[in-house]
Amino acid sequence: MSAAPQQALAWLAGQREAMETLLQRLVDTDSNSYDKAGVDAVGALLAAELEADGILLKRMPVDHFGDVLLAEVPGQSTKPVLLLGHRDTVFPKGTVTTRGYSRDGNLAHGPGVADMKGGLVLNCFALKALKRAGELPYPVQVLYTGDEEIGSGSARTHIEKAALGARAVLNTEPGRASGNVVSARKGGATLIIEVSGRAAHAGVNHADGASAIEALARKIVKLHALTDYTAGITTNVGLITGGTSSNTVAPSACARLDVRFIELRHWDRLFTEIQAIVAEEELAGTQAILKEATTFLPMEACHSERLLHLYQQQALALGFSVEGEFTGGCADSGFTASLGIPTLCGLGPVGGKVHTEREYLELDTLVPRALALVATILAVGDSV
Ligand SMILES: [Zn+2]
Repeated sequence: MSAAPQQALAWLAGQREAMETLLQRLVDTDSNSYDKAGVDAVGALLAAELEADGILLKRMPVDHFGDVLLAEVPGQSTKPVLLLGHRDTVFPKGTVTTRGYSRDGNLAHGPGVADMKGGLVLNCFALKALKRAGELPYPVQVLYTGDEEIGSGSARTHIEKAALGARAVLNTEPGRASGNVVSARKGGATLIIEVSGRAAHAGVNHADGASAIEALARKIVKLHALTDYTAGITTNVGLITGGTSSNTVAPSACARLDVRFIELRHWDRLFTEIQAIVAEEELAGTQAILKEATTFLPMEACHSERLLHLYQQQALALGFSVEGEFTGGCADSGFTASLGIPTLCGLGPVGGKVHTEREYLELDTLVPRALALVATILAVGDSV
C-alpha cells in the first residue's frame, strides 16, 4: 500500500471518539421507517458530517419515506465500490425521549445502535478516510436508504440501479454477536391473504353461509405443506384474523404469511404455487386475494466468496479473524447479490439483540471494523 492510503488508515485509527460522538447523535434521533422527518434528520446529520470533508452528496427525494442519499468519493474508473446503509429503525417515534443512547463500559445501547446506526457511522468514516487516501483507482459510494425495516419498497430501485454499475457491494449491517460477518442470507417475503365469504346466523341459517375462516384454514394447511427444510424453504402463517362472532358464519378472514428461501431460483416457483393455492375456491361462495407486502431476495454464498476471502485477509492483517456466517434474516444485500454483483454483508461493528430493548454494540469494534472495511475497499481492485 502506498503512503497516502496508509496515512488515511492511520487517521481512521484515531477516530474512535469522533465515531462514538456521531453514533450517539444518530441513535438519539428517532428514525422509525414510517417517520420520514426522523429518517431524513439522520440523513442530514450524515450529510453534514460528509460535506464538512468536501464529500459530494446527491439527494433523491422519496415521498412518505426517508430520502435516498448517494455520497461519493471519486476515483479514476467509472465502476465504484458501493456501500449500503439503511437509516430507519424498528423503534417507534419517541423512543429516545425515554431510552436514548447510553454506554456501559464497552457496550453502547439505544434504539438502532447496532442495526444499523453503528454501520452508518462506519460507512461515513470510511468515506472520510478515503477522501484522505489520495487519488483512488475507482470511486467509492455510499447509498443511504430509509425503509429497509419494512422491505425497502421505496429504496429497492435505487439500490439495484447503484449496484448494477458497481464492482462490489459492501453492506455494514451489524457484525454478528460471534464477531463473524454475513456471507449468505435467506430471501423472504411477507404475503397477505384476504378471504371473503358470506355471513349467516350459525344457528338459524348455517347452510346459507360461506365461512371465510374455513376457506382460509384449508389454505393454511396447503401453504404450510410447501415447507421443505432440505431445500431451505419455510412457510409460516404467523398471524390470522377473521370473523365477527362465534355465532356468525365468518364473512371475512385474513392471514399474513412469511416465506423464506435460500436460492433465488426457488422463489418464482414458490410464488406461483402460493398464487394457485390462494386462487383455489375452497368452499362455494368464498374467494381470496393475495397481496405482496414485502419481498427480499436471498444473498447466495457464491456471490460473497471472493469478497469474504479478501475481507478475512485484511482482518487478519489488522489482528482479528472472522468467518462468514449464514443467517435467515433478510437485508438489502440480497437485492444486489441477486443481480450477480459480488456482495458481502454484516461488516458493521459487532452487536446483537437487535430489534429489542437490549440491543447493544461493542464500541471497541468501531475502529477495527472501519479499518478492515477501508482496507477491503482498497483491495477490491479488479479481482472480484
Ligand atoms: Zn438492519
